[in-house]
Amino acid sequence: MKQIVAIDGPSGAGKSTLSRALARRLDYLHLDTGAMYRAVALAAIRAGVSLNDTEGLDKLCAEIEIKLREKPDGLVVLLNGEDVTELIRTPEISMASSAVSAVSEVRGHMVRLQRELGAQGGVIAEGRDVGTVVFPNTRAKFYLDASLSERARRRYEELREKRADNTLEQVRAEMEQRDKNDSARSDSPLMAAEDAIKVDTTYMTPEEVVEWIAERVKELEKG
Ligand code: C5P
Repeated sequence: MKQIVAIDGPSGAGKSTLSRALARRLDYLHLDTGAMYRAVALAAIRAGVSLNDTEGLDKLCAEIEIKLREKPDGLVVLLNGEDVTELIRTPEISMASSAVSAVSEVRGHMVRLQRELGAQGGVIAEGRDVGTVVFPNTRAKFYLDASLSERARRRYEELREKRADNTLEQVRAEMEQRDKNDSARSDSPLMAAEDAIKVDTTYMTPEEVVEWIAERVKELEKG
């Protein structure tokens, strides 16, 4: 039976690369929950809603439409029908998404949507609280982590490919700050579910991680 696969962990741990590859390999849907918080952050900035305005954000979430579409070259994020896939990947939106995601009202809207999208199974859901809050009953739970230096290096390389001019030090400092925000918030903080399998990806190649987790999921599919 197709599973709900929860992949949690801090930024740069390899969740997105893994989830994308795993979704392809197993013919599952890639449910990128972080992209949804990023889309909320972009919508808030555009609408001039302050990132800690609980009521304003609640209203905004009720009005906007976020959709995830699988395309041959990756996941496309639609905000009110507009393709915002690239726009939500800036360092500014990373920090803003961390701020809006601490607001319980925002989480309420997003978790509802995520459960709808994953209800039928056959999803690779990546985020911070997938195994603890969104799909606590799934058996396929993984928590990815890597050293801060390695995670910062990976994100720095990613940004460099996009020709961003952030230094490694900036990327590392922002990542540390975001980890702190995400782990310290009271609603659904970043943490491993008790029954999650922990995977340290510091010294693993992306292919090794995919291989290892795909095998575990296939075993679970057999029942
Ligand atoms: O995974 P990504 O870096 O795209 O997530 C952006 C931000 O969204 C995270 O820093 C975190 O604050 C928030 N997030 C969350 N819960 C999730 C996924 C992401 O709070 N399930």
